[in-house]
Amino acid sequence: MATRTQSKSGSQSRTTGRSAAGNNKSMSSSRTAPKTSSSSRSKSSKNQNEDMPNSKFHQLFVDHLKDIYWAEKNLVKALGKMQKAATSEELTDAIATHLEQTKEQVSRLERVFESVGQTAKAKKCPAMEGLIAEGQEVIDDTEEDSAVRDAGLIIACQKIEHYEIATYGSLRTLASKMGHEEAVQLLEQTLNEEKETDVLLTQLAESSVNEEAAAE
Ligand code: FE
Ligand code: FE
Ligand code: FE
Repeated sequence: MATRTQSKSGSQSRTTGRSAAGNNKSMSSSRTAPKTSSSSRSKSSKNQNEDMPNSKFHQLFVDHLKDIYWAEKNLVKALGKMQKAATSEELTDAIATHLEQTKEQVSRLERVFESVGQTAKAKKCPAMEGLIAEGQEVIDDTEEDSAVRDAGLIIACQKIEHYEIATYGSLRTLASKMGHEEAVQLLEQTLNEEKETDVLLTQLAESSVNEEAAAE
């Protein structure tokens, strides 16, 4: 059993048996030297197949690109609604800024599609549809101009950002594995915007908005 698990980590299996700390070290250092570098790809026919448009990894990548493309496009509409519904100037501004970023992210995704030889196409993302519905629920269930509405909108927005962070992080990893360097750069740019937005929303939640909610 033990040897089986160890063999999964390939070349690290020798150090794995030594100590957990040693293993962690070798794991993190191996990250700086990705195994699927272009040189190893040209040697391995198996990895070469992963680059081909019809490979299963490529299909997986494109499927998830279509999913997040649908999500971003629908977020443009949803963020517009949430921006109008927000109470405080800080939250209104934060959503407005991210709405502009989101429009940019839609066209950035089109460049990602292009970079891997695909036409941009959206495929309904049920998760984002649900998260957007939760945002609408907040608007429906809270009073206009209330701090409670802002607190609810922050929760809804952060759930959305977290879904996006998970998606872009995974897509970046896949793109990197397949050697799609342009896609990696583009996806990372968006990933950083989503992360920054999440941090900003946390700051807003921790400062005025929730204090006001508590005082109501
Ligand atoms: Fe986004
Ligand atoms: Fe999805
Ligand atoms: Fe976002």
